[in-house]
Amino acid sequence: MLASDLHVHLDGSLRDGTLVALSRNAGLIPATADGDEFARRLRFRPGMSLSSCLSRFDVTVGLLQTRRALERVARELVCDCYLDGVRHAEIRFCPVLHTREGLSRSDALTAVIRGAEQGVGEALASAPTDWMSARVVISVLEGMSEEEAGALVDLAIEFADLGVVGVDLAGDEALFDPARYARPFACAADAGLGVTVHAGEGGDAGNVAAAVEILGADRIGHGVSAASDPGTMSLLADRNVAVEVCLSSNLHTGAVGSLGAHPLCTLVEAGVPVALATDNRFFSGTSLSHEYELAISEAGASPDLVARSVLTSADAAFLPNDDRAALHELYGSSLGPGSSLGPARSE
Ligand SMILES: [Zn+2]
Repeated sequence: MLASDLHVHLDGSLRDGTLVALSRNAGLIPATADGDEFARRLRFRPGMSLSSCLSRFDVTVGLLQTRRALERVARELVCDCYLDGVRHAEIRFCPVLHTREGLSRSDALTAVIRGAEQGVGEALASAPTDWMSARVVISVLEGMSEEEAGALVDLAIEFADLGVVGVDLAGDEALFDPARYARPFACAADAGLGVTVHAGEGGDAGNVAAAVEILGADRIGHGVSAASDPGTMSLLADRNVAVEVCLSSNLHTGAVGSLGAHPLCTLVEAGVPVALATDNRFFSGTSLSHEYELAISEAGASPDLVARSVLTSADAAFLPNDDRAALHELYGSSLGPGSSLGPARSE
């Protein structure tokens, strides 16, 4: 099965071996210490809380302060995505966090774009007729000033033809203040960039509605709490706002107490477009194919729901219409004749 990973954080998705190697170089792990154990201790565990999860990014962000490290991690992430069945990845990160050792925001962004391009090249080296695309989404962080957010949106617009396709609002949802970012996010949308907002992860359904109505979100990251409010689900369904559902992550941050209690099916039954995504491949120890397995084995997803999610991951991508249609066709074919929804758009 093929699909897009529309919600994957660069700084949460390092390979274990790379995390350990970079940590040894940085002196975080003594040469004789067990690297695997170091990586294991950093991983999220169920019910940690959003703020505890976010604090672990201090380690990975600290390791990603050079062009070389950023390029490497972006390249490896794209290669890993390809092997996982992902044919379009939207990698998000906040360039400001990677300027502690002298890189400019543009340097950091350029390194990630270059690494992603190298990853696509590597992925397709043995299958030149296959499809793989990788794009970058720039994250604005909760708590930033309107001016800081505006500067990041300007950077995203400057790099719009070079691989940046959208902006995101990420971080601690307890700080959610959509009015502060309405103007910069409107500028991003006016420039043709996609807008995605983390909402309804650690906050209520009102945050999801505000993300749509005030920030003009085209997609919502997580959106778990939307399921508690029929009006918010109608809003998402009516405006065709897709929710990026990240099951393992939701379990780890405590957005849900168990995957059996996850409202994935409730959202889909209400007509909300849903695309499964990974969020943080390293921290959550997951892959997109694993998330789909969990949807079926733990969250009650039917084959039909899986097929819909796969096709939504094409339709909701921040790509030109032709590319979305091509991905829709590709994913529809990969679902096989057993699916009521695939192959799609073949007639
Ligand atoms: Zn996220």
